[in-house]
Amino acid sequence: MGRIIALANQKGGVGKTTTAVNLSACMGSSGKRTLLIDMDPQGNATQGLGVDKNSAEATVYDVLCGDTPIRESLLDTAFPNLKLLPANRELVGAEVELVDAERREFRLREAVAPIVDDFDYIFIDCPPSLGLLTLNGLVAANSVMITLQAEYYALEGLSELLQTVMLVRDNLNKGLYVHGVLVTMFQHTNLSRQVLDDVRTHLGDKVYKTVIPRNVTVSEAPSFGQPVIAYDPACSGATAYLALAKEVLARG
Ligand code: ADP
Ligand code: MG
Repeated sequence: MGRIIALANQKGGVGKTTTAVNLSACMGSSGKRTLLIDMDPQGNATQGLGVDKNSAEATVYDVLCGDTPIRESLLDTAFPNLKLLPANRELVGAEVELVDAERREFRLREAVAPIVDDFDYIFIDCPPSLGLLTLNGLVAANSVMITLQAEYYALEGLSELLQTVMLVRDNLNKGLYVHGVLVTMFQHTNLSRQVLDDVRTHLGDKVYKTVIPRNVTVSEAPSFGQPVIAYDPACSGATAYLALAKEVLARG
């Protein structure tokens, strides 16, 4: 059975997409059949894997709002064992088009059902909101990975996010749980250390041991359409994402 993990946080700029791209690539490189689903109209995960979001023939939008079968929309990437369901601006329309649709929160879950067993891991990169697209991600997933940027307002909005996860679990997707909380963009400053301490105090074992450092190579790699393990496998960001992949595998 494939494991489906949604990366969520209604805050933008906290490392969801960077983690989705790099963790997916690390899973693929370790031999796991992996799919990354881009659920953000910005299409950053799509571009981060070197796919031109505007020339993709079919995207997640066609799967959610049209009748394109998901298998026909999956793209091979240049990276081992890693496929992509791309997104672009068209996906903005989904929120509006599905407003009155029946079972609108279940669109992604139902679309993914036929291919779940084709993959060991499916990661869903959610947009920075708690709207219908993120709900679809949470309903389709078995668990949620929450990324927090190691900065002063890291915990702001977290209770709202956790409450949403619980509401989804109670009403739409029994069994949904928080896989873990990932601290990203960690710097060796007093502030970063303080934030990490606070996060560990509040969330205990849920916080991954692996912390992702702020590393300029990580932020450069997307402009080359590559995950860091392909762009510069020796950099601190690549090492950290490989460690995270191991930890995720160990947690199951
Ligand atoms: P989100 O998807 O939550 O909005 P992103 O993953 O797009 O966040 O990250 C926001 C910005 O921070 C991007 O410009 C990204 O390149 C940069 N970034 C993310 N993680 C790191 C890191 N570990 N080191 C340096 N820059 C990072
Ligand atoms: Mg993003």
